[in-house]
Amino acid sequence: MKVIKVKKVEIGRGFTIIAGPCSVESREQMRKTLLPIYSNIDIIRGGAFKPRTSPESFQGLGEEGLIILKEISEELDIPFVTEVMDTRDVELVAFYADILQIGARNMQNYSLLKEVSKVKKPVLLKRGLASTVKEWLCSLEYIAKGGNTNIILCERGIRTFENLTRFTLDLAGAVIAQKESNLPVIIDPSHATGRTDLIEPLVKASEAAGMKGVMIEVHYKPEKSKSDKEQALTPAEFKKIFYLTKKK
Ligand code: PEP
Ligand code: MN
Repeated sequence: MKVIKVKKVEIGRGFTIIAGPCSVESREQMRKTLLPIYSNIDIIRGGAFKPRTSPESFQGLGEEGLIILKEISEELDIPFVTEVMDTRDVELVAFYADILQIGARNMQNYSLLKEVSKVKKPVLLKRGLASTVKEWLCSLEYIAKGGNTNIILCERGIRTFENLTRFTLDLAGAVIAQKESNLPVIIDPSHATGRTDLIEPLVKASEAAGMKGVMIEVHYKPEKSKSDKEQALTPAEFKKIFYLTKKK
C-alpha cells in the first residue's frame, strides 16, 4: 500500500480523518466549525470552487476561500484539501492547497486530470457518480501516467434506484479499488448518504473494511450552511463520533 505523506500526516497508514464544511463561507464560519474539532482531525476540507447543480446556488469564494483555508490551516497546523474544477485554476489551487481534490463530476475530465498530473501535490480523486470502479481506476492512470503518483481515492456514493439516501455507498467497490490500485481509499459518507444519522455506522463500516480514512462535512450551524446543509454534522455531533479515534 502506497503511503501518501502530507506534512505530518501519512495517508494509507492508520485511519485518516478529513473534516470541515462543504464550502468555505467566511473566516468566522471556518473558525467556529474547526476550533471545537481540530484535535480530532488530520486534514481540513472546504470548497473554494464549488461544483453546484444549479447555477443559482452559491459557487464558492474562489481565491478568497483558498486564502481563508491557508490561514486556518497554518493556525491549527493541519493541512487542507480543496477542489479544483478548472484547468485554468490548477496552478492557483496548487499554490495554496496541500491536496488537490478532483470532484465526482470531474472524474472523467481528462484535460483536468492531465493538468493535475503535472503538479507536485497529492491528488484526491473522487469516484464519479455514475462511474464503474474500472473507469475510476482508468482516471487515476491519467494522473499517474503524467508523473503524479501521490493519489488518494475517495468513494462518495453512486447513483442507483434507491432514494432513501442521496447516493448509494459502494463499499465493496471501494475495497476492490484499494486492492487493485494499491493506493489508499477513503470514504465520504456525507455525500454518499446526504444524511447525518448514517455517518457513524458508515464510518465504522469503512474502518472495519480496511479503508484508509473518511471525509466528513461539518458546519457550526448546519441550517445556515450555503451548501449541503442536510448532511452536515455539528461540531458536537462530530466529536461524539470521533472522540475515541484521535487522542492529540
Ligand atoms: C465535495 O466534496 O465538496 C463535493 C462536491 O463532492 P462530490 O464531488 O463527491 O459531489
Ligand atoms: Mn458538499
